[in-house]
Amino acid sequence: MRANMFRKILIANRGEIALRVVAACKELGIRTVAVYSEADRDLLHVRFSDEAVCIGPPRSYDSYLNIPSIISAAEITNVDAIHPGYGYLAESSHFAEVCDNCGIRFIGPSASAISLMGDKSRARETIQDLGIPTIPGTGVIDRETRDPAALARQVGFPLIIKAAAGGGGKGMRIIRREQDFLDSLSLVQSEAESAFGNSQVYLERYLTNPRHIEFQVLADEQGNIVHLGERDCSIQRRHQKLVEESPSPFLSPGRRMELGSQVVHALKQIGYQNAGTVEFLFDQEGNHYFIEMNTRIQVEHPVTEMITGIDIVKQQILIAAGFPLDFSQEDVAFRGSSIECRLNAESSETFTPSPGRIHAYHAPGGPGIRVDSAAYTDCVISPHYDSLIAKLIAHGNDREEAISRLNRALDTFIVEGIETTLPFHRKVIRHPDFLSGNYGTSFLEEFAGKTA
Ligand code: ADP
Repeated sequence: MRANMFRKILIANRGEIALRVVAACKELGIRTVAVYSEADRDLLHVRFSDEAVCIGPPRSYDSYLNIPSIISAAEITNVDAIHPGYGYLAESSHFAEVCDNCGIRFIGPSASAISLMGDKSRARETIQDLGIPTIPGTGVIDRETRDPAALARQVGFPLIIKAAAGGGGKGMRIIRREQDFLDSLSLVQSEAESAFGNSQVYLERYLTNPRHIEFQVLADEQGNIVHLGERDCSIQRRHQKLVEESPSPFLSPGRRMELGSQVVHALKQIGYQNAGTVEFLFDQEGNHYFIEMNTRIQVEHPVTEMITGIDIVKQQILIAAGFPLDFSQEDVAFRGSSIECRLNAESSETFTPSPGRIHAYHAPGGPGIRVDSAAYTDCVISPHYDSLIAKLIAHGNDREEAISRLNRALDTFIVEGIETTLPFHRKVIRHPDFLSGNYGTSFLEEFAGKTA
């Protein structure tokens, strides 16, 4: 056991990511405390943790977002640290600050780094000042800004209005014609006000069918930063990722290292710590532009773990406990290819949610297959929470092998009783544009016409 390793960690999350953190803690010999809402008593993260505390009614606002309840659970169980997972309080600088004030280590970056990057407009300006290109656009526009239409004309149409505090594909609107701009602006401002408590927005030129490529980084408290390569997350629906892969078929090894060192250099300047992801869009000419940074573990982190062999969640915990990274950039090797499909409890055609009881569940295994899931036969997918049932990740010595393993795994994945996006994924990974690696964020719009 290392000198200042945590003894016990509370996991302020549910479902597959809570289980993922339990796994990392078990391997590190750390005890775990699960928290759960009244709807989640029977979930596996409760069962596999050493202790569990009910933190409130089903509504997320009353439980997984309830800071006083979570902090009380942490104090009663006497934990050293809290892992927030993704979503919920993972990007709440206020929560990180409350943890600090209570003497509980928040496993993530500092509250000030979360707050800087959580404001997408400020993040954009900071990153631009550090020499990374951003999409042509504006600074913050609020209700006092004079003549926003003139600013929009300068950016040009189509453009995208983005909420400064937005995230998760929410708080964005594409405007194609100047005459729609002012009405849409006040709509996004009001939506942002009610969803995020902040009506500030900014504008960006809207790129046609770009690729979404993001870099994973790890930074310790001693100032060492490494990048773990990229993930291509261009297959999206309504700006939310559905399939992710690494390496991106779009980047050469030289470009990967060039961009990776740009990212590392920028994050060094701001003294960033712990895990993080810097997201870019690539236009059709291959130019890259920063769009945002996520200061937490991401849903799609397994594809990076599969090709680098580095356990990102364990690294987050070790970094928060004060250990320096025990490898350098030169030690990070990229082996083969990995692809993840997000399996949701939704209709494969309309994507409408399909919560309910899973009557039969069988996850595939075998060479190169990993399934991160909290589902099991007879479990209930609750309408209160997001619809992710499982992440199916395939790894192969090359992209072709990863795809054939994914194909085989998708065909032997059984989820009965509710609708799932399994049929959708089977079509995506057999689609000629996916097979050729030649796809962008508009893939889905063109999808229907081309499926075999
Ligand atoms: P969020 O914080 O909600 O995840 P992002 O700013 O990361 O929002 O953007 C999510 C997705 O929206 C991108 O991956 C891309 O598909 C689309 N998008 C965002 N900005 C632009 C843009 N300027 N042009 C074209 N597509 C964009």
